[in-house]
Amino acid sequence: MNHVNVTFVGGPADGVKLDLTRTPLFLRVVREEHIAADWVFDALDQLDDAPKSTETIYVYRLRGEPWGVHYSGRDRDGRRVGRTEKQAEYEFVETQPDDATARDTAAWRAWAQAERDRQKAAEKAAEKAEEADLDAQIRNVMRARDAIVSHLGGPWRKGTPGSAGQIDCPVCGTPASLAFSRSGYNGHIHAGCSTKNCVSWME
Ligand SMILES: [Zn+2]
Repeated sequence: MNHVNVTFVGGPADGVKLDLTRTPLFLRVVREEHIAADWVFDALDQLDDAPKSTETIYVYRLRGEPWGVHYSGRDRDGRRVGRTEKQAEYEFVETQPDDATARDTAAWRAWAQAERDRQKAAEKAAEKAEEADLDAQIRNVMRARDAIVSHLGGPWRKGTPGSAGQIDCPVCGTPASLAFSRSGYNGHIHAGCSTKNCVSWME
């Protein structure tokens, strides 16, 4: 079985390292509370692992994806040897499930599944918002550019001299805030609105 060197970050198991064979997104770390030592941490990484009644459960979440670290060197006979070890990092989950949920196999699986779904939905929403934001920025630049071009009497043609100036910004509506220049050499427009976070671009 491939094993993974796992490091825990934050929470009671902060800095603890364990060798695991599975790296689920959510992982239960257990500690025998009556033994006051750091090394009594263990993780329930196997599907049929269950906590003992004497163990306290702490839930951790995988940070990103496990990665491989390659070690190379030479053996006693001078031959090159190498091996790859997988590493992973888990961070303490701030909002822990209650003890009954974390302790019961079915309830724990349902909790982990719901959290996975929630995380996925949040990632998707963030992605969508970013796309919408980008679309809006592009539309704003197009609007501002159109306003400059129409202010200059139309699109640039060979022979049209360069020009520069300021017009009312059609995006934020601030008078004379959109400063622009249009090259007499290739018609490229550089422009920027003086309003914070409004449009600005270079061609
Ligand atoms: Zn503006």
